[in-house]
Amino acid sequence: MSKKKRRNRLSIRIALITVIAALAGLAGILRLSYQMRQLEQTYNRTMEENYEKMEEMHRISRQLQQHQSMLYAYLLEDDPGKCDTLEKNAKELEFEIKAVLTSLREHTRGGEYETYYHDIFSGLVGYFKNVEFILDFSKAGDTATAAYYMKTSLQDYIIGINASVDHMGSLVEADMRTVRDQINVKILQANQEAMLMMVVVGVATLICLVFCSRISDEMVGTDLLTGAANFDRLLKYGEKLQKKGKLKQFTGIAVSIRNFKFINQEYGSSVGDSVLQQYAAKLSAMLVKGEMLARNGGDNFLLLLHTGRVKAFLERIPRMEIDVPGENGSDKMVLASRCGMYQAEEKDAISDVLDACTLALNDARKQKNVDQVWFESSMYGELQQRKDVLEAYRIGLVEREFLVYYQPKVDMRNNHLCGCEALVRWKRNGKIVPPYEFIPILEAEGNITLLDFYVFDTVCRDIRDWLDRGITPVRVSSNFSKLHLKNEDFADKILHIMEKYHLDGTYIEVELTESSGYESFDALKSFVACMKEHGIHTSIDDFGTGYSSLSLLKDLDADMVKLDRSFLFGLESGNVLIEKLITNIVRMIRDLERDVICEGVETKRHVEFLTNAGCPYAQGFLYDRPLPHDDFEKRLLSPVYQID
Ligand code: C2E
Ligand code: MG
Ligand code: MG
Repeated sequence: MSKKKRRNRLSIRIALITVIAALAGLAGILRLSYQMRQLEQTYNRTMEENYEKMEEMHRISRQLQQHQSMLYAYLLEDDPGKCDTLEKNAKELEFEIKAVLTSLREHTRGGEYETYYHDIFSGLVGYFKNVEFILDFSKAGDTATAAYYMKTSLQDYIIGINASVDHMGSLVEADMRTVRDQINVKILQANQEAMLMMVVVGVATLICLVFCSRISDEMVGTDLLTGAANFDRLLKYGEKLQKKGKLKQFTGIAVSIRNFKFINQEYGSSVGDSVLQQYAAKLSAMLVKGEMLARNGGDNFLLLLHTGRVKAFLERIPRMEIDVPGENGSDKMVLASRCGMYQAEEKDAISDVLDACTLALNDARKQKNVDQVWFESSMYGELQQRKDVLEAYRIGLVEREFLVYYQPKVDMRNNHLCGCEALVRWKRNGKIVPPYEFIPILEAEGNITLLDFYVFDTVCRDIRDWLDRGITPVRVSSNFSKLHLKNEDFADKILHIMEKYHLDGTYIEVELTESSGYESFDALKSFVACMKEHGIHTSIDDFGTGYSSLSLLKDLDADMVKLDRSFLFGLESGNVLIEKLITNIVRMIRDLERDVICEGVETKRHVEFLTNAGCPYAQGFLYDRPLPHDDFEKRLLSPVYQID
């Protein structure tokens, strides 16, 4: 497992653990708040009970006082009727006091309370016994003895009862204080625990946030297919090195797999993906601390390597063994790579380093026998040209600096003009710039599609104009880059422009370069079918230069095959094999009922050979170079060539 994956897994684990800690902390806080509520309820209940107890005790004291007053009143009363009432009231009060005593009993079971309760109880028993004596003496007319009892023993009982009540009261108060203290301690503890939990939750959330943002940073900066860094992350890392003044210790290396396109086409894109993953894993296994690998789209990788380790890296990279998964297990494949290298200098920004090694890689791509190229300053010229073209291109379109030239196609059997190809030219600063100076740049940067439609629009406008002026045009082919096939509305856009000029397919042909290969074969096939449906011809351009196979012709219902002019180079040197090759290719194309035209026909010998080989059509300087609009119009009016 790569270091990065391990780091990511660790981050995910830490984030999970901290989430769990935060949740546990939250649960703890909830538990504490529940406990606090319970404590509060217990406290309230205890207080209520204690207050009730106090209230009952004091009520007994008060009622006793009342009872005593009634008794006095009774002793002093002469009226027997009133005496009866007072006695009756005193009896009732006695019952009430006894009822309160019973209720107090409920609250005073156990401990010291019980002792005081018993004191009050026996005091009251004694009191009421004495009351009976007093009443008896009073009724017997012995008021003096009754009064004596009142003063002495009855008073003693009351003092005794009140003393017990007071004792019990202070006990209750002490009890309430203790409960309050205990509860305060518990609340303090709970508060401290809650604070601790909150700190745990806070810290855990913070850690979780840090790791989550780290994971998301990793994801944002990661190429999802290979797990390598992406271009942005490499750029940021390079900027960091630059700020620390360490970039100059590094070498930028741009790497791509040789013939990766072929692997993709031959084995399919899922195998291609697996190859890329293994390749990236092998590259990243070669890195040491501080170095970085990034994928820059497709099979393009960029590395920042310590300069001292570049030599060893370049020695290892030419042969990399990869497993190619297939139906019957996997096969081994040895991959070769192309590399462009640039050693960073003091003044360089990271973008300079990456640009320079990419330029060197582009150079390596152009070379046949060299796969590893160090950057040279002359390559900057190309970079400058690139930037210049990209900057000026859009303005050029708006200012209509792009012109369409027409190169005739000729039927060699009667030397008659039979069609033409629209070829773009850029009139920049008064000079005509040929397409090879800007088309490959625009194509590489994905900017060509606008220009193609600009040219096609011009072609349709010219055809409309010729028709309106009574000049019979020929079928005009327009070049479209393979990049269009990625757009689902490619065909619709073509039809839309034709509709704008009220044209049907009679005079239109679409040229698609054969080197587009199979990568978008399904899109190509349905595009060609759609064109056929609308009577628009399609042709396969530059046949023989790319990854073509004759099976492509079989499966693709194109109308015309354009043999690349490079086929004719061999003819000059009398290469018999080439002659046989062309003859057989032409025969096969015709057997598949496709038309065939050869580009680059410059000599009568070419014409002779091609007609003998069965190729009826030609395009080349022998007949005409690409002509400006007005010159081509003259050719339309005089469509037969005189070739001596
Ligand atoms: P192509 O489509 O294969 O066009 C034929 C090229 O061969 C033209 O070059 C033409 O001038 C050249 N040619 C024709 N006959 C002869 C000959 O007898 N001898 C020699 N030496 N050359 C001959 P040109 O116009 O420079 O165009 C180069 C390429 O630029 C085109 O190759 C085509 O791939 C591309 N291109 C031109 N216009 C457009 C366009 O509007 N869109 C796109 N996507 N590509 C275009
Ligand atoms: Mg062409
Ligand atoms: Mg061509």
